[in-house]
Amino acid sequence: TSIDHKFTTHNQSSIHHLESSTAMAQGQAARATREAVPPVSRVAIIGSGISGLAAAKQMAAYDPVVFEATPSVGGVWKHCVYRTTRLQTPRANYEFSDYSWRNRDDPAFPTHTEVVDYLEGYADEFDLWRYISFGSKVVDIKFLGGAEAGFTELWSGTGKNPLRGKPMWEVGIVTGD
Ligand SMILES: Cc1cc2nc3c(=O)[nH]c(=O)nc-3n(C[C@H](O)[C@H](O)[C@H](O)COP(=O)(O)OP(=O)(O)OC[C@H]3O[C@@H](n4cnc5c(N)ncnc54)[C@H](O)[C@@H]3O)c2cc1C
Repeated sequence: TSIDHKFTTHNQSSIHHLESSTAMAQGQAARATREAVPPVSRVAIIGSGISGLAAAKQMAAYDPVVFEATPSVGGVWKHCVYRTTRLQTPRANYEFSDYSWRNRDDPAFPTHTEVVDYLEGYADEFDLWRYISFGSKVVDIKFLGGAEAGFTELWSGTGKNPLRGKPMWEVGIVTGD
């Protein structure tokens, strides 16, 4: 186990390049995931559950890094305690607006493995695997910038250019087993 500190920043001169280990889930071998965090990591997303995947798709233009503690996408649906766990939402109501369930009209509530399949399909469709660093647990986040650095301005307003300003976050990652 090692602890790396990675910096996601808009001040590129402060960016540090640190390797991260990649754990491949079974069946994901054909999907290329991140082997290392690039030297110009601008946007970090924590977790590759449904929320992290949606965020990665929206931020794709900024080549985000998705830090995922486990070896897989899917979040709670991948790590269900009970084999019988199902979604209690009709599948058409638990759907990305830009990615439909293949069997959308099936009235059965999806099993948790069906939800994982659906989320993996979303990652395939939008080529999201490339952004994910598996086996990377975020253990510390520190905001190093401040309002004077443009943070408030950065995420409000039009949001058209989220990379302006110089806010800087330090993110501590534990990699490996
Ligand atoms: C039993 C159960 C049934 C549910 N049923 C429904 C339902 O029927 N309908 C509904 O709408 N919602 C339901 N939910 C809610 C469910 O949590 C959401 O649907 C959805 O899965 C949440 O997605 P998420 O990406 O926000 O979080 P999660 O799915 O929890 O994903 C979070 C991800 O972040 C990773 N992570 C966490 N901490 C770190 C860290 N420090 N560093 C790196 N990675 C980290 C985790 O490993 C995980 O992959 C249910 C939840 C449970 C537990």
